[in-house]
Amino acid sequence: MIKAIVGANWGDEGKGKITDMCAAGSDIVVRFQGGSNAGHTIINDKGKFALHQLPSGIFHEDTLNIIANGVALNIDYLMKEIETVKSAGVKFKLIISERAQVLLPHHVLLDEYEEERLGDKKFGSTKSGIAPFFADKYSKVGLQVWELYDREHLKERLKGMYEKINVQFKYLYNKPEIDYNEVYETLIGYADIIKDNVADTTKILRDAVKEGKNILLEGQLGALKDTDHGIYPYVTSSSTLAGYAAVGAGVPPHEIKNITVITKAYSSAVGEGPFVSEIFGDEADKLRRKGGDSGEFGATTGRPRRVGWFDAVATRYGCEVQGATEVVMTCLDVLSYLDEIKVCTGYELDGKEYKEFLTTKKLYDAKPVYTTLKGWKTDIRGIDSFDKLPDEAKAYVEFIEKEIGFKISMVSNGPKRDEILFRD
Ligand code: GDP
Repeated sequence: MIKAIVGANWGDEGKGKITDMCAAGSDIVVRFQGGSNAGHTIINDKGKFALHQLPSGIFHEDTLNIIANGVALNIDYLMKEIETVKSAGVKFKLIISERAQVLLPHHVLLDEYEEERLGDKKFGSTKSGIAPFFADKYSKVGLQVWELYDREHLKERLKGMYEKINVQFKYLYNKPEIDYNEVYETLIGYADIIKDNVADTTKILRDAVKEGKNILLEGQLGALKDTDHGIYPYVTSSSTLAGYAAVGAGVPPHEIKNITVITKAYSSAVGEGPFVSEIFGDEADKLRRKGGDSGEFGATTGRPRRVGWFDAVATRYGCEVQGATEVVMTCLDVLSYLDEIKVCTGYELDGKEYKEFLTTKKLYDAKPVYTTLKGWKTDIRGIDSFDKLPDEAKAYVEFIEKEIGFKISMVSNGPKRDEILFRD
């Protein structure tokens, strides 16, 4: 059975925790898109980890972890991450697709230079090189992992690649040129380090499907950051949807039987772009400090996340475009300090109320329509069944369930693995 765990919103919904939890019953955990630009925070008996490249299945020794073809492979970053988890005593099995593309030094530099050039109009990029990487991939000038093992070919490819890039560096950005020989040497070193981990992962996955193995596909970011269906252009440069998992991992789409979509009990977002239910000032500071396991600050960049009330319009859309078969709500415990809790149930624009997610400019102009619910004002961490939650907390979950039109199968009431409440 193949299960995908993906985000309904802007990312940071707590997918890492749920994936780590579900990985226990999985034979294989796969990262199928994105790169080192977003991270999952996982807290378990081995410690607290921020994973950016490694799949969340690494904490289960028998689970095979795959970095699939759809991922932007930052080898330098991956090595550092492997060192960190290994030094915490984590042992794992990892395979990297020979078709995954390699993030190169100029991608990171281009990301930086372009944000600098854009000034006020910048996208709020994490400067991990993701947009230039995917631009190269789809312009067919990227580099697949297998190419690292054919030295003559590699040198030729790099030579051709940097002729064009250096023109851009010199004349558009007024920056130093890159010596392709240096990049070549770095890549040869990388190739050697990962050689035992490289394989045809789509074959491994096809075989695993035939053998009826349990496969978990792990998404990064959320539906609203999807290149096509999100808040373009304030999106990421690869598809974040469960539908893309079939391509990014190389598995038959009809085999993905379970699509678990994660949403958080309130909203948070990083980067620029419209955010209808965003809150500001003291109200936002308080929620930001209470949020997640140690405040809403980016796992990759440490920058404060934008926060707001739960957006039922955006979340319903996020669940629908993902094709949710179930929904998990995380961070319900975070809201325990509030007397009243608002939920955005519509968008008002030009005197009309919309229940549909809108295109970017309209989202900027839209005002939130709120329904106010009563808070529960009591700590709910440590409660071990949904029925034992205060009535107001149950009512909050049930209200949202009705608004988004999807069943919430689990509610998370703390960052730890076992802080999870199952619904019937
Ligand atoms: P991901 O990228 O979707 O995995 O999300 P992040 O890891 O960036 O952000 C989720 C944050 O919320 C992390 O700090 C988690 O440890 C934390 N978290 C997950 N579930 C819960 C929960 O139910 N309650 C609280 N308080 N924190 C949670």
